[in-house]
Amino acid sequence: MRNLLELKDIKKTFKIKDASDSVVLEGINLQVKEGEFLAVLGPSGSGKSTLLQIIAGLIPSSGGTVSYLGKEIHGVNPGVAMVFQSFALFPWLTVLENVMLGLERKKMSAADKKEKSMQVLDIVGLDGFENAYPKELSGGMRQRVGIGRALVSEPDILLMDEAFSALDVLTAENLRRDLLELWLDKKIPTKSIVLITHGIEEAVYMADRAVILSSGPATIIKNINIDLPRWRNRKTPEFLA
Ligand code: ADP
Ligand code: MG
Repeated sequence: MRNLLELKDIKKTFKIKDASDSVVLEGINLQVKEGEFLAVLGPSGSGKSTLLQIIAGLIPSSGGTVSYLGKEIHGVNPGVAMVFQSFALFPWLTVLENVMLGLERKKMSAADKKEKSMQVLDIVGLDGFENAYPKELSGGMRQRVGIGRALVSEPDILLMDEAFSALDVLTAENLRRDLLELWLDKKIPTKSIVLITHGIEEAVYMADRAVILSSGPATIIKNINIDLPRWRNRKTPEFLA
């Protein structure tokens, strides 16, 4: 399969006032292939969110290149969309309006944007909630809105930054399963998923491959293929190993 995304020698330093620069990422080389579910594991504060924001083009790197479909990206990456741990919904907008934001950059009529967003709400299990406000929803439903807003633009790569971490155990499990099913059954056109997590079990349950980051500065210290058949059973010796 071809490479959708390629990171070459990515470095990130933050300037700290009255102190020496803090180096967060160093020498990150990473490829995401078409059809791949990649988990990025690392300790808290190691630079995972920074890495994802660089992939999305939301912040610039301090060195190295990000390429999407073989072309270097400067600015927002057109092939990705992001789901945040904190949901990052706009409280004054309805569920439908929040999802429609995912189409803001697309040249489509307002009517088409609405129709597309309604279809996505159906896919993520929010049919009938289009006029609700985020505060009227449970955490799991809020994150479904977050996922819908990302999916509506039909990104090649879905970036998920600890997207299940803020949810209770059962809600997180349902959402993981629903997302995996949408992706495995090709009910969404998303080709690849990059999931940032600090949960080893979550990575082994969902991903085809995991890379592990060290911290201070973060660099990739391990690359592990997870070729267990799906759906995976957490109680098998292979899973536990
Ligand atoms: P993770 O997502 O792995 O928990 P982050 O990518 O959020 O880690 O942060 C990595 C490190 O970079 C942390 O030490 C954090 O304080 C620092 N950092 C993140 N953003 C900034 C910023 N805008 N300015 C200065 N330091 C930052
Ligand atoms: Mg983070």
